[in-house]
Amino acid sequence: MAQPLYLVMASAECAPLAKAGGLGDVVPGLAHELARSGVHVELILPDYDCLHTDSLRELRVLPVHLEVMHHGRPWLCQARAGRLGDVECVLIGADAPDDFFQRGRLYGEPDDAARFAFFSRAVLAFLSQSGRHPDVIHCHDWQTALIPVLLNEYYRAAGLEHTRLCLTLHNLGYQGVVGPEILTQVGLDPERLMVPERLLDAHRPAANLLKGGILEADVVNTVSPHYAWEVCHTEQGMGLQAVLGSIAHKFGGILNGLDVAVWNPASDPLIPVNYDHQRLALKGHNRSALRQRLGLREREAPILAIVSRLDRQKGVDLIAHGIEYAHAQGAQVVLLGAALEPELARRFERLRARFAKDPDVHLELGYDERLAHLIYAGADLLLIPSLYEPCGLTQLIAMRYGTIPVARRVGGLADTLFDANDSDRPFEERNAYLFDDPTPSALDQTLERVLNLWREHPEYVWQLRVNGMRADYSWQRAAEDYLDLYAFLGEH
Ligand code: ADP
Repeated sequence: MAQPLYLVMASAECAPLAKAGGLGDVVPGLAHELARSGVHVELILPDYDCLHTDSLRELRVLPVHLEVMHHGRPWLCQARAGRLGDVECVLIGADAPDDFFQRGRLYGEPDDAARFAFFSRAVLAFLSQSGRHPDVIHCHDWQTALIPVLLNEYYRAAGLEHTRLCLTLHNLGYQGVVGPEILTQVGLDPERLMVPERLLDAHRPAANLLKGGILEADVVNTVSPHYAWEVCHTEQGMGLQAVLGSIAHKFGGILNGLDVAVWNPASDPLIPVNYDHQRLALKGHNRSALRQRLGLREREAPILAIVSRLDRQKGVDLIAHGIEYAHAQGAQVVLLGAALEPELARRFERLRARFAKDPDVHLELGYDERLAHLIYAGADLLLIPSLYEPCGLTQLIAMRYGTIPVARRVGGLADTLFDANDSDRPFEERNAYLFDDPTPSALDQTLERVLNLWREHPEYVWQLRVNGMRADYSWQRAAEDYLDLYAFLGEH
């Protein structure tokens, strides 16, 4: 019998151990599905002090003498491992220099570049020193983008000569643009590597880790086909358009899946009444519960919701505008969002205060997993006016819960959403209201279309909800696409 594929995934995030955003969901979603289809999957993460290790079984220290080169000297590191479901998860770095992973959080430290460059070298040191020979190393985003470069520079000759590399780009907004000292730290020669055809950034006299990874990986993908096109042909490439355009032979897009066991209105323990597309009327109980929870009055009006990081990427101006416009048009509005940028936090705090006494609007500023579930179940429409969106999970979740997305036609939103009135898809596949221009007037027209439909054709609204609920967004489909990609690597 043929050996199963041996895949190592190196990532800065993996829920529920360590999660800051969508990457944290994608890594375990894909890893578990691949393991189910027979792949031997091993995850490698930094051993952060804030890891939620209670979800790991059989946690133990591995008997590996692990030395990682850092500033020209070997650092003795610890590798632990535990089982996350059916996937082995290796944690590296308890004794790392400068307490790299003892910061109480994943990111946001001034030396993030140094921390993840160290981690990238540590992953390869671990594989090589423990005698592992993965068929494929799958890296994610800038934090692990130095792995392809380090592999080609050092580790092919250290037992990893047949290992192939896949790099997934989850968000081009973060590239790891760093000074030459970061390369020196991990033993790379800046003079040789900081040239246009390798790591030199196209616009700054700096090393661009993501660019290095893109050029040196065997295959590169983004998390949706439309975003893959946008990053090559529009400013969404954030300066990497030419680099991505030059690797068309090894570049594509694979749409993320959704953890349909967690996001399932028929069994979700975090919502008051479970339902599915055949018992859609029960959604009304969740609508009432949501109103009660947030102090909104009970009345005949749709609830427009926003569940989002309040970040410029998410179209904060349009979010603020949409709240006011939908309210003025007679809808109820609910927002759940957290802003990291202080200026944005103040802006939404002011908006919250303005609507504090309004019985039709509630803004909740912060992160609240439980409330998010209730909002998806209780709301009627979900507003997603992103400026760019590599894949997007919230539209997939909303559809599972019979909540109709009102979104901009960009990135993964364009791949998964089909406008109710304006689409070449058959009616059973239409599931959303879309607009193109990131302008208040484009959003207003779209909201008007939805609200008119609401008043005049409730049966059509019902059908759109059902269309969204019946579609398949599971990881199974995505995992098949990744298996094809790994197979392609084996052949080239
Ligand atoms: P991104 O990863 O860019 O933030 P995605 O749409 O891919 O956007 O994923 C967002 C995920 O985070 C979804 O699961 C969404 O429900 C969740 N989320 C976003 N903001 C909040 C919040 N304030 N409270 C709870 N969950 C949130």
